Amino acid sequence: MPGNNPSSFLDALRRDLAELEGRGLRRALRPIERTQGSRVVIDHRTFVNFASNDYLGLATNPRIRAAAANAILEQGWGAGASRLLSGSRTVHAEAERRLAAFRGAEAALLFPTGYVANLGLLQALADSDAVIASDALNHASLIDACRLSRARVVVYPHRDVAAARRALEEARGASRRLLVTDAVFSMDGDLAPLPELLAAARATGSVFVVDDAHGNGVLGEEGRGTLEALGLDPAAPDVVVTATLSKAFGGSGGFVCGARELVDWLVTRSRAFIYTTGIPAAAAAGAIAALEVLASDPWRRLDVRAHARRLRQLLAARCPERAAAWSPESWDVPIVPVLAGDAHRAVAAADRLFAQGLFAPAIRPPTVPEGTSRLRLSLSAEHLERDIETLAEAVADALEA
Ligand code: PMP
Repeated sequence: MPGNNPSSFLDALRRDLAELEGRGLRRALRPIERTQGSRVVIDHRTFVNFASNDYLGLATNPRIRAAAANAILEQGWGAGASRLLSGSRTVHAEAERRLAAFRGAEAALLFPTGYVANLGLLQALADSDAVIASDALNHASLIDACRLSRARVVVYPHRDVAAARRALEEARGASRRLLVTDAVFSMDGDLAPLPELLAAARATGSVFVVDDAHGNGVLGEEGRGTLEALGLDPAAPDVVVTATLSKAFGGSGGFVCGARELVDWLVTRSRAFIYTTGIPAAAAAGAIAALEVLASDPWRRLDVRAHARRLRQLLAARCPERAAAWSPESWDVPIVPVLAGDAHRAVAAADRLFAQGLFAPAIRPPTVPEGTSRLRLSLSAEHLERDIETLAEAVADALEA
């Protein structure tokens, strides 16, 4: 059978890759040699980085690096085992206690990444008799988490509260109902209508799961995230928040926060928590240090939000039709999408920026829907005001070309 011949398998992959290449959809890695703040070195050339989620510039922060390095020197590198065996350290517990306090929740649990936190949460909370209402533009990790749970999933149109509520009302016979949404949508930078969604979840007795990967550390008076920014009580027992240490916190890892019983349940039943090695002590120590920097450097979240508003203002003046896509309440969000449409156009625009020393790769399907390829500009507190001005000019020129 030709299917069993290894060379035919590789031939098929080669053919499929060539076909993707023809449609501008093949992806490739671009290794960075060095990184410092908002600057990266690629092929010995320095670029201003607009493609990172290091919103507060903490990935290269000296205090946090020192905390992580000390943890490695004192406690070793890997955890050596899963958390339930010998892989749980006091520094994990301390990080979980502090993350819960920061988010205003009763308890928190660390996972290897934000992606895995979502898998571990939904698998443990939902089974094949459950129904999950999920926003059409939710992050891939939530989509995969819904699939892994085997629940019946109703995908409602983006930000459509009435449709979400209808789906939950119609799921009366379900063993459990869940409403799942990104707080800040990762490719559009817009906010979910959290107060209205929470009301819909409450009216239908559903668990409200919010992925605050991009709001955590950035939005809200104290940087406590999107719930704080929108005036919601994060301690509510029917709200479950997932977030990541890999964006504003500049590190690596993910976490879930909520009621104590929820965390106890995850420790006992979440496969993505149980069957994997605990995150390195250094990642937990880095998270604790990041919380300290967040408290001591409020300018970081203020600056990155100011950069986001400034970039939107400048782009709105140059290309108002593209700016029309941004909703007014999202102007503070440091993810600024600029639609190009076709994948080839987006790649050509990104290449033009790259030639000018600006690193902002094109985002294409399947990460975003067909026909909505874009530049996704993400900002950092480490950018200078003139970086924002240079970027706005270059993006407007690149898309007009
Ligand atoms: N949720 C959202 C909304 C995200 O954008 C991301 C990262 N792209 C994740 C979860 C996953 O986080 P991590 O990178 O820590 O796996």
